Amino acid sequence: MAYVGRFAPSPTGPLHFGSLITAVASYCDARAHNGKWLVRIEDTDIPRIYPGSEDHILRCIDAFQFEADDAIIFQKDRLDLYDAIINQLHKNHLVYACQCTRKMLGSNHIYAGTCRDLNLPFEQQAIRVRVSDQEICFSDRLQGTHCSNLQQDLGDFVLKRRDGIINYQLAVVVDDYLQGMTHVVRGADLLDNTERQIWLGSILGYPKLKYMHLPLAMNDQGQKLSKQNMAQALDLNRAPELLQQAIRALHQPEVDLDTPAHMLKQAIAQWDIQHIPHTKELEGTYL
Ligand code: GLU
Repeated sequence: MAYVGRFAPSPTGPLHFGSLITAVASYCDARAHNGKWLVRIEDTDIPRIYPGSEDHILRCIDAFQFEADDAIIFQKDRLDLYDAIINQLHKNHLVYACQCTRKMLGSNHIYAGTCRDLNLPFEQQAIRVRVSDQEICFSDRLQGTHCSNLQQDLGDFVLKRRDGIINYQLAVVVDDYLQGMTHVVRGADLLDNTERQIWLGSILGYPKLKYMHLPLAMNDQGQKLSKQNMAQALDLNRAPELLQQAIRALHQPEVDLDTPAHMLKQAIAQWDIQHIPHTKELEGTYL
């Protein structure tokens, strides 16, 4: 079976133990399928980039001895590409400019389509994609069937912000396609984004992907480890220990403490996703 997978961190803070779990699972799953594994830095949201975190990501890839099959790509170098896709969608009347401010939208999380038929010029406006009133479902390899009716749950959503920033949903779909991705392995915090990405992929005529959303590592406050709640940065001097803990967190058979490359090799040989808890959160707490 053809398999191309990826690890696609956003440099909004240093990588933490939750990121390591995603990196390990995406890597082992790709390699266990004799697949390729790529790294992509998702840095379109320039104001949220945390200084030094891009460098920390690259040093982690080295220290944990992950071997990417291609040069690492940076989304901020590809902004023209995403604009070209927006133009393509525009020609097909699938996107429109929206002048609604956050204030106008208020606390209503479902966009009512106010600007849908106003035909506003595209300059300096947010760009939204039209969604339709239909149930989109996919079968996650761990989480089972997941569905959403985008029109009822969300409404037309933003692909490009008024300040020109390309939204994650668009960049991820375009790059997964252009990089030939077949499989997405990532944290369960992104489960609810998937129908939006499936919708975009379908209107762009891209092939379907297979998804696996991993249970999240939680801290002792019951929050998922994240850059926002100060999860500890991965300590590159403790790569073997941290790798062993990540493999344990995924409920895989034990691996011996060794060089990261050897440990990953052993984890790949023993890799079985059936052992991973089919839940949205891991038991226990992490730092
Ligand atoms: N860049 C996203 C993040 O760091 C992950 C994107 C994805 O795996 O689809 O949360």
